[in-house]
Amino acid sequence: TTEEPWRPFNKSRVYMSDLESTLHYSLRVELAAQPVFKGEALRSLKKYISVLAKYFPGRPVVMNLLKTVNSWLQNETSGQISYEAFKDILENSAQIPNAALPEGVRWVGCQGSQPHFRRYPCGVWMLFHVLTVQANSTGGSDPLEVLSAMRNYVQNFFGCRPCAEHFENMVMESLMEVNSLSSAVLWLWSRHNRVNNRLTGALSEDPKFPKIQWPSPEMCSACHTVKENGEHRWNREQVLPFLLSYFSSSSILTDYLE
Ligand code: FAD
Repeated sequence: TTEEPWRPFNKSRVYMSDLESTLHYSLRVELAAQPVFKGEALRSLKKYISVLAKYFPGRPVVMNLLKTVNSWLQNETSGQISYEAFKDILENSAQIPNAALPEGVRWVGCQGSQPHFRRYPCGVWMLFHVLTVQANSTGGSDPLEVLSAMRNYVQNFFGCRPCAEHFENMVMESLMEVNSLSSAVLWLWSRHNRVNNRLTGALSEDPKFPKIQWPSPEMCSACHTVKENGEHRWNREQVLPFLLSYFSSSSILTDYLE
């Protein structure tokens, strides 16, 4: 593989290029591992695409494509779909004007110092944080809609199997605590920090991007408080607005897009 040039980026911003790269990899590479979708896998695929069509804060051209794929999938009633048929729609075989998902990956905020670091798994986290925040700000009706779609996607399709197992354990332990759209945002943030904590010092940690309990005090000092006994404590009343702003559609940078 040829080395890509490093793309300078702001470490405290979200990039649309990472989100589109994640969709590319998810829809064209990860899902392609399954020749047919049926039963549980088909239900998971439908839910995932429907959440994307509803909440992905994408460019019009990408949204047109996601909506096309979504209506095709939801109208499909034979109980079975081949990846080939899915791919046909994804590549816009009907040639609907202004509907396309850019081909290939262009990692920006998810670049790693080596090709095996960061990238797609980083993009998956980014994508689902953005989706929980979008569901919250557009007033979704079911607090678990996005997280259940993520759970099922990870369970059925995420290539990293130990990751899927760890994630499912956290889901079973505490997903029932989520009872509002804002608690869904906070749940994903706090589980992501648990994963960061577990992976500190692991082989998969990019030495140039050490795992931290996120956001750092530099990014959000009000998010952090210290108890009388000196123990660290998150100030959730500050963390929530921080997350809602950090992952909001209006904060997403469009640098490096095709
Ligand atoms: P990531 O953890 O991927 O985070 C991406 C970006 O999100 C960060 O750069 C930061 O900007 C932001 N961020 C960081 N923490 C938070 C937070 N708490 N809330 C909101 N935003 C945050 N790898 C393993 O080795 N073992 C596992 O069991 C494992 N399980 C995983 C489960 C899931 C569901 C996913 C999506 C990934 C999993 N991974 C696992 C991969 C791992 O979590 C990282 O994605 C990977 O190591 C790349 O790390 P990163 O430095 O890019 O940061």
